[in-house]
Amino acid sequence: MTQASDELGRTVNEIADLTGALVRIESVNPNLDATGSGEAAIADFVADWLLAAGLEVAIQESAPGRPNVIGIKRGTGGGRSLMLNAHMDTVSLGKTTDALSPRIEGNRLYGRGSYDMKASLAAIMLAARDLVSEPLSGDLIITAVTDEEYASVGTQAIVRDYSADACIVTEPTHLELCLAHKGFVWADIETTGFAAHGSLPDVGIDAIAAMGPVLSAITDLDHRLRRGSAHPLLKTGSVHASLIDGGTELCLSRSLPGPDRAANGSGRNSRTGRGGTYRSGRTLWRDRQGRYRSRTVRDCPRSRIRASGIQCY
Ligand SMILES: [Zn+2]
Repeated sequence: MTQASDELGRTVNEIADLTGALVRIESVNPNLDATGSGEAAIADFVADWLLAAGLEVAIQESAPGRPNVIGIKRGTGGGRSLMLNAHMDTVSLGKTTDALSPRIEGNRLYGRGSYDMKASLAAIMLAARDLVSEPLSGDLIITAVTDEEYASVGTQAIVRDYSADACIVTEPTHLELCLAHKGFVWADIETTGFAAHGSLPDVGIDAIAAMGPVLSAITDLDHRLRRGSAHPLLKTGSVHASLIDGGTELCLSRSLPGPDRAANGSGRNSRTGRGGTYRSGRTLWRDRQGRYRSRTVRDCPRSRIRASGIQCY
């Protein structure tokens, strides 16, 4: 083996070991999964590691309980500064039971976040350690950030307080240079109806039907965006309805003719003046004219849509 391949083998082993150590620390973004621990534990690990490697270390609260870690190797002066950036959070562990137990098969390491992006985080930590003793004229700034998987509050906090002449965001790109990136926005749109029995449509307002024109308008907007000016790499912007649910607040079944019975069987006979009961426990009343009335305006069924818009530039 040559010295170069020896060094490469050692570096790969170091990256695998450090990536494995990072994968073992659960850092699921709590905005995506309420059971997620967030970045506090992994930030402690990264801060201690960078400190031991000889860097100047700062902690920045990007949000309560969501710490960024900044490691700096000061330059001797006169040179340009470089920031290396990686995020510490991951998406949910899902149903996997061994997501935090890294394993190597062939030349790949598996485990939640190993690819996106704890391997990159390990790589910039090791790069910083190797450069600590080098006489750099510009500053080297390592930023290990929170919340990339949701709203990127970590990097937003970094750019408020830190700057550099250049920055490399080390998201995995199969070793291809990434020159452009799409942005996106989520919009939650809600239509509100009014609960009524299905046999009395004049009493109610259909929240699901009200979503129809919204869906059509989203489709029209998408067509307009796709006919618009295109970025040479990213093409055009687009928008689509990514999630929709509706009518979930009202769930009532009733037989006709005969007494009103709720879906959960707890409804009372309509002759008593008390109507059936929603599965959610809310009461449907009948007024003196025999018309069904929802007890409060809070009983209104809703339909909700999440639309994702992708804008290129
Ligand atoms: Zn990522």
